[in-house]
Parts: sequence; C-alpha cells; structure tokens
Amino acid sequence: MSKKFKTEEDIRKYYEAKINWKISQLIFYYKTLTNQKINSDWILKEYEPKLNKRIERAERNNKTKLNQEIKNFQRKQEGKKEYKYKKKEKEVTKNSLLKTIQKYCRLRDSDKRWFGHCISCNKKVHYKKADWGHYISRIHNYTAFNTDNIHLQCKWCNIKMSLSTEESKEIRNNYRKNLIKKIWLDKVQILEEGKHKVADFLCSSWKKEKKQEYLEKIKKLKAEKDDW
Ligand SMILES: [Zn+2]
Repeated sequence: MSKKFKTEEDIRKYYEAKINWKISQLIFYYKTLTNQKINSDWILKEYEPKLNKRIERAERNNKTKLNQEIKNFQRKQEGKKEYKYKKKEKEVTKNSLLKTIQKYCRLRDSDKRWFGHCISCNKKVHYKKADWGHYISRIHNYTAFNTDNIHLQCKWCNIKMSLSTEESKEIRNNYRKNLIKKIWLDKVQILEEGKHKVADFLCSSWKKEKKQEYLEKIKKLKAEKDDW
C-alpha cells in the first residue's frame, strides 16, 4: 500500500511483474529439487500438481492485492480516504503449525554451525537446505505434530521415501533403525501405534497455543546455539 502509483496502468504492470517473478521462483524451486541425481522430467511430473496449486494460489493472492490497490487508487483520485487492509487475526492452520514445528526439529537436529545429519543416510546438510522427514506420514494427525516423529532429512531421502520403490523401502528401514538409536524403541512404537489414533486434541486454540510454544522454543534454541 505504500507504493506511489501514477496511473492504474502502473499498478497493473507492477503486479504483473510481481506475479511473473513469483512464478519463476516457484518453478526454480521445484527444478532445484531435480538437481539431485533424479531425472528432471520425472520429478516435474511428480511435482506438477503441487507446483500448479502453488501457482494458482499465488495468482489468486496477487489478484486480490491488485484489486485492492486499484480500488484505493480510485478512491484517492476521488479525494476519499484509502482503504486499509483489515488484518484479521489469522487462524493457525495445520500447515503453518507444522512449518513451525518442523523448523524447530531441524534446528534441534543441527549443530552449532547449523549442520545436521540426515536421519536415514547420515549425510551432513545445512538445516536450511534440509527437509524434515516425518517417520509416520503427516497425513496422520495424531502423530503429525509429535517432535519424536519429525527429524532432519536430506531432500534426496525425503523425496525418495514418499515413493513406493525398493529404494524407498530401504530408506524407510534406515530411518527406523536410526530412530530407534535416537529416541529408543518404546517411543518408536508409540508413534507406530499412534498412526491409528484419533487426534481429538486438534482444535484451533490448541494449534494457536502450540504455534506460540514452538516459536518461543525456536527463539531459545537459536540463542543457545549462537552462544556456543
Ligand atoms: Zn539422506
């Protein structure tokens, strides 16, 4: 809202450039995933629906902002006051909560220089370049938010593990083996049993509370590691 536009055309051009840039970034992101030994056609096919969904969402958001900007511009021309974006308190979604918890887990699993070892192949990766691998798939709500279930994993293993090939079986087995070493068998079994349980704790206030809790944990962890 702070941009000074002279004409409506300027606004349209600005938002067009913005969305084009965003789309190119999204494509670039999915292409970098392919740099890891995998055939690029294969990976793009695999990721195409996800990519398209994200592009659609970005276009929708961009359009909303463009319309708002134009409305404001017109009101200003007429000498009226600008609309301000009313910031509603956003509901914490499953995804946004998971993102926070996953970040916490990657930080927890990395050393003072922010490198950690992949839970399944032991490769050393920077936490920003690593994925977070769920042992029990994140579609199961009961275990999705449990930090015993989320560990730093290299992108390669994470992508491969989601498929159903011989290799992915091996990656899953290695994950389990290393997980037992890390958190012990009884906790691994709790996760495996939890797969079929109902997540009756899951409500918006729980998600909000958890998000806050993990944001604080991240802050603490960062401060601790920087202190080393
Ligand atoms: Zn790995």
